[in-house]
Amino acid sequence: MVTRVLIANRGEIAVRVIRACRLLGIGTVAVHSQADADSAHVLMADQALCIGPAPVRKSYLDQAAILAVAEVTGADAIHPGYGFLSENADFADRVEAAGLTFIGPTGATMRIMGDKISAKRAMRAAGVPCVPGLDEGLPDDPARVVAIARDIGYPLILKAAGGGGGRGMRRVDREADLLDALAVTREEGRSAFGNGEIYAERFLTHPRHVEIQVIADTHGNALWLGSRDCSLQRRHQKVIEEAPAPGIDAAKIAEVGERCAQACRSIGYRGVGTFEFLYEDGSFYFIEMNTRLQVEHPVTEMTAGLDLVELQIRVARGEALPLAQADVACRGHAFECRLNAEDPETFAPSPGLITAWQMAGGPGVRVDSHAGAGYRVPPYYDSLIGKLIVHGATREDALARLRAALGETVVEGIRTNLPLHRRLVDDAAFGTGGVDIHHLERMMAGDAA
Ligand code: ADP
Repeated sequence: MVTRVLIANRGEIAVRVIRACRLLGIGTVAVHSQADADSAHVLMADQALCIGPAPVRKSYLDQAAILAVAEVTGADAIHPGYGFLSENADFADRVEAAGLTFIGPTGATMRIMGDKISAKRAMRAAGVPCVPGLDEGLPDDPARVVAIARDIGYPLILKAAGGGGGRGMRRVDREADLLDALAVTREEGRSAFGNGEIYAERFLTHPRHVEIQVIADTHGNALWLGSRDCSLQRRHQKVIEEAPAPGIDAAKIAEVGERCAQACRSIGYRGVGTFEFLYEDGSFYFIEMNTRLQVEHPVTEMTAGLDLVELQIRVARGEALPLAQADVACRGHAFECRLNAEDPETFAPSPGLITAWQMAGGPGVRVDSHAGAGYRVPPYYDSLIGKLIVHGATREDALARLRAALGETVVEGIRTNLPLHRRLVDDAAFGTGGVDIHHLERMMAGDAA
């Protein structure tokens, strides 16, 4: 039963989840920090309770406080959004132990996918293509480490099994650097993630970031819902995403998509999830699975014509998926720009009062946001203030709509990355499609030179 959902998040994603609950006639409970007392999600939810001061450890990450709110408000399910507790297996277990529905996979599944080595092993077993390398931790014996590295070849990348957020990884270009790099990465793994296990795989030099959206129910059905390209990144932070990934043969994407859906069936996955791949020279290489809703889910919604949050809630309450793979289509093309309160050149956060806010509209334009004129962007959380999403019949049409929509968009009072977006939509290589993950940083480095 899901009759009242507590949203353990803030910002645009909390608003997004509340909208889906409304459509389904489900009650909503918002939790918030003192800094978010007049935030949109607080005003929109049927009920809202403050769970602590601004710092996330004392509010949005306070599991006991969130569970206490669920109890006093009679919420019977918790939606974790993305970030915060969304990939915390212990939290998922606690929610279920309290007799509530966690809108996401089980803690056990999250644990497998949260360890990069066990995730890779599970994916390889399910037939998903992975980056060449051993699916096990490197031994202590230096001679064996050197031998394993020679087999993989240089450059290679050392990765902490427990790593995340772009940390705990190190590129190694030559054998002379290998053992020192391993010692440093091991130490980093131990101190940052409490896990000194390190593995090695081939370093890909010019990959694209291509991902596959999946959804699975508790009746053994799993579907893949198309591809996304998120190669425009800076410091592993995505800036613009699109669906489908341009210039890749649809049959090739379908083949990988099928493998992902099959992997979901074989591990008993439930809910929405994303398989992230590096794509280089015509091949896909699995790097990790995200066991939650992604920031960029709207581009899939626009091209697949589905409401992913609605489906997520439906499968969480035990319904079978209402469609089969043959019913899933990819129509047209979609882009998403992440609007951030940050300096467009230095990327330093720019919190403060928004004095003017004008969002674009018209056919094929969608804005997901919690902000507006008079909203004060707090300095405590990530800088995402909204997402501008556009859809068109072709990539060209969508790009033209995006350009026009960015032209209509006004945010004043704080600095935003709007100038960067306006520049990117006029970039020739991005216009052609298929740039690699280093494109944006190369472009910024070119400015500095
Ligand atoms: P995290 O969980 O920290 O995000 P990922 O495994 O998803 O780590 O990798 C993050 C990023 O690191 C990738 O998007 C890519 O830019 C880079 N990366 C990871 N593995 C490789 C690889 N084998 N070759 C080249 N770059 C890689």
